[in-house]
Amino acid sequence: MLPVKRKSKCRTRTRRAHQALRTKTLVACPNCGKAKLPHAACSVCGYVSPKLILPVAEEEE
Ligand SMILES: [Zn+2]
Repeated sequence: MLPVKRKSKCRTRTRRAHQALRTKTLVACPNCGKAKLPHAACSVCGYVSPKLILPVAEEEE
């Protein structure tokens, strides 16, 4: 199936005006200081909150 009518440059560009990538928000881990996603466990040390630190699985070689 082909589109019935060719989209104008303006329509295409107007649609794609919303497709820009946003920079990921990062916060510093209070435990080790490395950058991590907010509201997520630290991927380096597994820190979530002072009461909860998840075990970090080590990569197998
Ligand atoms: Zn950490």
